[in-house]
Amino acid sequence: MISKNKYDEIREDSITGRYVSLDHVMPFYMNKLKNDAIEVLGKSVEERLIHCVTMGSGPIKILMWSQMHGNESTTTKAVLDLLNYLKTDQPNAKLIRSTCTLKILPILNPDGAHAYTRVNANQIDLNRDAQDRSQPESLILRTLFDSFQPDYCFNLHDQRTIFNVGKSSKPATVSFLAPAFNEVRSINDNRRKSMQLIVAMNQQLQKLIPGQVGRYDDSFNANCVGDTFQMQGVSTILFEAGHFKEDYKREKTRAYIFQAVLMALHTVSESNLEEFSSDDYFEIPENQKLFFDVLIRNANKVNTKYTNDIGVLFKETLVNEEIQFIAHIEKMGDLSNFFGHKNYDCTLEKDCIELKKSDLWKSI
Ligand SMILES: [Zn+2]
Repeated sequence: MISKNKYDEIREDSITGRYVSLDHVMPFYMNKLKNDAIEVLGKSVEERLIHCVTMGSGPIKILMWSQMHGNESTTTKAVLDLLNYLKTDQPNAKLIRSTCTLKILPILNPDGAHAYTRVNANQIDLNRDAQDRSQPESLILRTLFDSFQPDYCFNLHDQRTIFNVGKSSKPATVSFLAPAFNEVRSINDNRRKSMQLIVAMNQQLQKLIPGQVGRYDDSFNANCVGDTFQMQGVSTILFEAGHFKEDYKREKTRAYIFQAVLMALHTVSESNLEEFSSDDYFEIPENQKLFFDVLIRNANKVNTKYTNDIGVLFKETLVNEEIQFIAHIEKMGDLSNFFGHKNYDCTLEKDCIELKKSDLWKSI
């Protein structure tokens, strides 16, 4: 983990917010990386370039990819921060460079990143294409996996705002999964290592965001890339960047993902994986989907067309190169078991006044 001041020094300030496309990242590639650190592995469906950045020259090989889902940019911002950090003379950066060789694909799905969609230009979810490999992006990742033969894979994603941790009202700001490699979800050496690394990261994150780390359900799906790479005998970790209070641009979560990845690399570099018990992995609470962006309780008190509670979600919509958050009603009824990132209770006069003044009421 590095201090907030140190992080502020290395954060890639040219890339912020939710809309991150290849056009945004190209100046970073051109100006901040040496020519021999970056290569083009191939092209997407719409012939955008897919780049790979290599950092370090050590024996432990780590493959990372981000924005396999084009609208999931938080981890891309975190890996650019990571690249800036790894170029420094910090002792930990030097250690990682000398013990590890990293290959990082910051934007695996540049067409989806451009259009701000989960899927690629053929409307295929690349994270369900691991067996068919019907898409050029899937082939590029798999070809690199086969030639590089990594020891670890980091599969970097964003998750929606709906996830809470366990039974608590805390958002899952970061979630992890050590993907299963078979239907019965056995634990072999590779999967155990994934779990140990997650335990190491969780310990660090609990200091920064106590109670805000979740674990994903580990049901097996061979079409998912993480499950497939785990099947191939490579320790794979799914990272999910999630919601932090009022951080819809995910600039705070970006920093937590950076710290988590750094901790994983540090643990691998120090070879102290065995300090962490895979049993503790199962102590991380599973995610549940109990959040709305806005929860309006007792809405019938202000408008009789509604039954008691309203759960509102924002749809992220690309408008003029910016992401707008458009509210819609997701669920109505008794939502007493749910949570809101923002809450109104229409039995309270101050909430009614605030709600009536807000744009939200007009748009839903
Ligand atoms: Zn994703």
